[in-house]
Amino acid sequence: MADHDNPLLDDRDVDFLLYDVLHAERLVELSGFAEHGRETFDLLLKTARRLAREVLYPAFKPMDEAPPKLAQGRVTVHPSMHAIYPKLVELGLLNASRPAAAGGIDLPLTISTAALAYLMAANGSAAGFVFLTTGAAHLIEAFGDEALKATYMRPMYDGTWTGTMALTEPQAGSSLSDVKTTATPTAGGHYLIRGSKTFISGGDHDLTENIVNLTLARIDGAPPGIKGVSLFVVPRRRPEGAGLVDNDVQTAGVIHKIGWRGIPSVILSFGEAGGCHGFLVGEPHKGIGYMFQMMNEARILVGVSAAATASAAYHEAVGYARVRPQGRKVGARDPAAPQIPIIEHADVRRMLLRQKAIVEGALCLSLAASRYADLAAHAATPEARKRSALLLDLLTPVAKSFAAEKGFEANALSVQVHGGYGYSSEYLPEAWLRDQKLNTIHEGTTGIQSMDLLGRKAVAGGDAALATLLEEIAEAAGRARRAGVATTWIDAVTGAGAAVAGLTAELGGYAMSGDVEKMMLHSVDYLELFSVLVIGWQWLHQAAAAREQLAGEDRGLGDFYEGKLCAAQYWISTEIPRIPALAELCRSAEDSYARMKPAWF
Ligand SMILES: Cc1cc2nc3c(=O)[nH]c(=O)nc-3n(C[C@H](O)[C@H](O)[C@H](O)COP(=O)(O)OP(=O)(O)OC[C@H]3O[C@@H](n4cnc5c(N)ncnc54)[C@H](O)[C@@H]3O)c2cc1C
Repeated sequence: MADHDNPLLDDRDVDFLLYDVLHAERLVELSGFAEHGRETFDLLLKTARRLAREVLYPAFKPMDEAPPKLAQGRVTVHPSMHAIYPKLVELGLLNASRPAAAGGIDLPLTISTAALAYLMAANGSAAGFVFLTTGAAHLIEAFGDEALKATYMRPMYDGTWTGTMALTEPQAGSSLSDVKTTATPTAGGHYLIRGSKTFISGGDHDLTENIVNLTLARIDGAPPGIKGVSLFVVPRRRPEGAGLVDNDVQTAGVIHKIGWRGIPSVILSFGEAGGCHGFLVGEPHKGIGYMFQMMNEARILVGVSAAATASAAYHEAVGYARVRPQGRKVGARDPAAPQIPIIEHADVRRMLLRQKAIVEGALCLSLAASRYADLAAHAATPEARKRSALLLDLLTPVAKSFAAEKGFEANALSVQVHGGYGYSSEYLPEAWLRDQKLNTIHEGTTGIQSMDLLGRKAVAGGDAALATLLEEIAEAAGRARRAGVATTWIDAVTGAGAAVAGLTAELGGYAMSGDVEKMMLHSVDYLELFSVLVIGWQWLHQAAAAREQLAGEDRGLGDFYEGKLCAAQYWISTEIPRIPALAELCRSAEDSYARMKPAWF
């Protein structure tokens, strides 16, 4: 095992991103956050850091090695999780960002997201119990009636019960319009639920007395497709009288996963004995719309989790590269000279710098997206709120997919830096690589995200969102210019913004002339080039902030800011130039895979 400490996330970096780049402390100027100050933010971060490093991280490997077990119809989790869960609840993140009416303290999401990132970096599947429960409770808070809120939301937000998102069925994964689980109305006001769900994370465990499944199902006689899907609360045990009674929710199996092995993902069977009660959330047939509001939140959190997982592996690789001696400098002639640490080799530094650029670029974007969510809810004017909502909507597929796809590449580079040791389970990088892969799959695969970005957000939504993004890029360019960032970097990013806008208009033209398939053919390449631009914009901000700080630097952090400038240079000089080639693929609708017939494979 490695003989160096792994910080998982760099505290200086998180502080730099929050305060020097994003000026999160200014959020308290908004009336919704007036109760807070930088002290409350820092206190939460400090507590989350300690919990992550001292409690969650030591349990990561044992939990990976001994996944939950199913016996006599019930799932038991790793014993460490029993010690961790109450501490996670105590930290208060379950509802910190909710208003007092929901038991929360109106903490900005920007801050709770940063705190959650530490937990995710330390032990992603342990943190999963928290954000799944928050997401499920938030659905009830947003769309449930008062009775549902009183009965279910409160015990979920205080950690007495956990929650799940029960969407997926064997025939309905990416295509949720094909959900078959049924809901039959009864005279008692509840519905009888029948059907099967698969991959439900946290769907069974022995941590709490109850589990509340936010479930998509079809009311008898509902129209086919997406407009016939409704949302239900389906508890494992339902409150009746003074206690809880069995609600006919069975665990039919556990999925044997390659990662995220600390949290069970299970197959649930509802209503085998005809006694599974479901309680409608909101109006009939509007389930997908409700779920989408929550899925957008979840997608940002997947991006955070991906950045955090790549961050843990990146820091492990840096620590290893500093202490692993191997080989000598290119051109060294004395074979008896001592070996040098591999961090001295330029190619190892290439792998480390690429990881740094991906990790810190993705983390910056995740926190920026959370800040837009805060502004969308609490900015002073309706225009400012609308503007932030527009940006959040546009950036969500990018924040999710960039961190997941490039995070996986970063995780693979961490294995590579470890050489053969990275390929063994005595070292941790392979475990983070396995964990990371999930992030390109759940909450909408990368292919699905790319269609959402190009089809729905960039084209069908009109040009307002993209125009707003270009304004934000221009603002970052102005900041960078004032701070003394190289003009070539600024021009590269603003030029790329104009090129992406031009390409989007061209692709929109294909759809206008009736050829949607041509527009969408290279949607994944579009997502890629769009992400390169967006991360370039984040690095321009970071370069500007680093220059601003270097100007008055007296805290001995010069190396930290120089590292930031090098990573910005790396992204802007090696990634931004890839945009024209990717754009040409999209524009020309290069048709190799479109022509490929299934029989030709
Ligand atoms: C560990 C784990 C945990 C999970 N947790 C949960 C959970 O808590 N709750 C829950 O409800 N679900 C959960 N899921 C399910 C997850 O959301 C689905 O696996 C995911 O949505 C993909 O669905 P699928 O597996 O059926 O793949 P499919 O939808 O069959 O997709 C297979 C491939 O086809 C592509 N594809 C599919 N449709 C299209 C299309 N229209 N156009 C182009 N490409 C397409 C996809 O991009 C993908 O590459 C979890 C999954 C895993 C692995």
